[in-house]
Amino acid sequence: MPNRRNLFFFYKETEELREKVEPLKELASKYDFHVVDDPKDASIIASIGGDGSFLQAVRKTGFREDCLYVGISTGELGFYCDFHIDNLPEMVENILSEGIEVRRYPTIEVNVNDESSFFCLNECTIRSSIIKTLVMNVHVEDFHFETFRGDGLIVSTPTGSTAYSKSVSGAVVDPKLACMQVSEIASLNNNHYRTLGSPFLLSDERTLSLEVVQDGNDYPIIGIDNEALSIQHAKKLTIRIPDKRIKTVKLKDNSFWHKVQRSFL
Ligand code: NAD
Repeated sequence: MPNRRNLFFFYKETEELREKVEPLKELASKYDFHVVDDPKDASIIASIGGDGSFLQAVRKTGFREDCLYVGISTGELGFYCDFHIDNLPEMVENILSEGIEVRRYPTIEVNVNDESSFFCLNECTIRSSIIKTLVMNVHVEDFHFETFRGDGLIVSTPTGSTAYSKSVSGAVVDPKLACMQVSEIASLNNNHYRTLGSPFLLSDERTLSLEVVQDGNDYPIIGIDNEALSIQHAKKLTIRIPDKRIKTVKLKDNSFWHKVQRSFL
């Protein structure tokens, strides 16, 4: 287990960001944090950028459960960033006055073709890569629930419920609920094809499986958060909620619902 004060900064190596990160590194050293060059040695991983950088920081460092992730924004405060790079005094004051706390975000685990598994913090999407509709058999456990025909499906975590899922009218879900939300992207609904037509939530005791019907549209795109999987011939996705939680640092007076209000109301 790395030293509890080992800190790694995750950011895109641009000149602008390098200049902004330098004062952060100095500040960290002043408060006895040890800045490390390899995330494997870190017990705290700070992403600099926006929500997209935070998602990348978690993915590229392996969804570690034994470290704390901190989101530091360089633009608008997002959903995963409680701190702003231009407001370092406030950040230090909150850390020193115990104005921060740790929260744990549920993830989802996606297994492709009974072979490789991936974690997601926002969502997994499966979409047609061509103009033809994508057909999938949707199973909840062993039960064939529906046959989907349309552009694709989004399976989101609670924290991902305010991202892509919300754009297709998914519900906003409290991250204290360990569940996954399944939302449709442009389903075909007529006298031949029928789907539920509304998003639905599955508990952490359920497993969802999506079987791509091999009818000529057999190469869907699979997105895990902000990355596309390079697996081309996905026949089956099995999705469940693992015990894995991502620990992040939050300001005490900045709950998920404060963020929802700030962003959408
Ligand atoms: P991006 O540059 O396409 O930005 C997407 C926007 O979504 C950014 O403003 C980002 O701050 C915001 N966002 C990301 N996660 C969020 C969350 N959990 N809650 C609320 N807003 C969130 O890509 P990016 O910044 O790398 O983010 C990737 C995410 O973008 C994906 O995980 C997906 O959720 C989302 N996305 C949305 C759509 C859509 O709404 N039509 C389409 C593709 C991807």
